[in-house]
Amino acid sequence: MLKVIDTHAHLDELENLEPALNKAKEAGVVAIVAVGSNHQSNQKVIGISNSHPDFVYPALGLHPWELGNLDSNGINLTLKFIEEEISQIAAIGEIGLDYDKRVIKVAPKEPQKETLRCLLALARQYAKPVSIHSRYSWIDTFELVKEANIEKAVFHWFTGFSSVLKDILNAGYLISATPAAEYHEEHRRAIKETPMDKLLLETDCPVTYGRENRYRSQPADIIRSLKAVAALKGIDESTIARQTRDNAIEFFRLNM
Ligand SMILES: [Zn+2]
Repeated sequence: MLKVIDTHAHLDELENLEPALNKAKEAGVVAIVAVGSNHQSNQKVIGISNSHPDFVYPALGLHPWELGNLDSNGINLTLKFIEEEISQIAAIGEIGLDYDKRVIKVAPKEPQKETLRCLLALARQYAKPVSIHSRYSWIDTFELVKEANIEKAVFHWFTGFSSVLKDILNAGYLISATPAAEYHEEHRRAIKETPMDKLLLETDCPVTYGRENRYRSQPADIIRSLKAVAALKGIDESTIARQTRDNAIEFFRLNM
């Protein structure tokens, strides 16, 4: 059976978590990196990973979408919790910038950057990998990550330009493929242009995917990411599974 790792899942947002985790195991998922979005979500992520040791690995973060709801106290509380838990987390994430108009309206670019700098400083200080959101902000996000001297970063669900992708890969950073690899042109191009040693698989569940047939994703849908990548690369599924699994184990230093 194929063995794959879902490197970016919002398990705290799944409605029926236990059945979803069982289904994932049946599909061949051997580990999940659960990312957090805000303080409450981070607390849930720690709880879920404690209940599923050696299967769910926690990453704690502060998603740019959350910044519109937070004052500096809220941000500091989130940062403090991440630092308290730092020794038991696999990564800091989900963090990043989002320049979608609706996001910028509530969380302007400068405050987004300021918060990201704090989170990256924490990652740098404790030598943690980062799971990066960079929608419509590819250049700025890459530059901040680079400036912070981050050693390991994955630009999740990457859809940016080839030029930025080249900079990301040259800096030694990775990208990850979601089930949108089945149909999303920019994402497909990025996957094609990324060498296998710089690629991870993810679901970003419970994101809704699909064009005609829309569905709410769960970790078992990582098989869609796997199959889409295999088709795009013209490489068999078991090779893609093995290589992306090895990449994930090394990147997050998973003990498995
Ligand atoms: Zn996400």
